Amino acid sequence: MEDSKSTPITHVATDRVLLSFDDGPRAMLTLRILDTLREFGAHACFFILGQRGAQHPELLRRIVEEGHELGNHTWSHPRLLKAPDATIFGEIQKTQRLIEAASGKPVRFFRPPYGKIRPKTVEMIQERFNMQTMLWSLDPEDWSSPGMDLIHARILETVRGGDIVLLHEKRQTAQALPAILSSLQDRHLMPLKTPAQP
Ligand SMILES: [Zn+2]
Repeated sequence: MEDSKSTPITHVATDRVLLSFDDGPRAMLTLRILDTLREFGAHACFFILGQRGAQHPELLRRIVEEGHELGNHTWSHPRLLKAPDATIFGEIQKTQRLIEAASGKPVRFFRPPYGKIRPKTVEMIQERFNMQTMLWSLDPEDWSSPGMDLIHARILETVRGGDIVLLHEKRQTAQALPAILSSLQDRHLMPLKTPAQP
């Protein structure tokens, strides 16, 4: 596509779903999420905040060792629409260095805080960092802690192959995860590794 450089990804080209967990790592919660994913043989993409990752480099390594993907979600979760380019660049670069030092792998995906980003910034991130910007197609609003049953129900209501599901490293999300994965398994939508390209 002509404009793909400035258009964020919202779906993946697979008949499975992609689960993404934002705003971590968060110590015990991250470990719990990793244990559940491993139990089901599922994979996910973790969009981490640099300032949290810097406190838990061992969690970053474990995420990668268990076959998951680490994505860049900035250092401190600023609103990118209001931030000057130099701030955005610094937030991304600092986080990029942290992830690459921990994982030894290049970071392939960026997710803007609040899902808000200018097309020009998407292009800059592609050109300077060789990262694609990833948004999502399914948002069960787990960030508002609506209860684990509702998080599960909202996903199951509409989920289809190719969906990118937005989740957060939050307590109710970790509680709901076994039920979510079990339902996805029943529907043959079990999340696998992040596809290389959409
Ligand atoms: Zn976030």
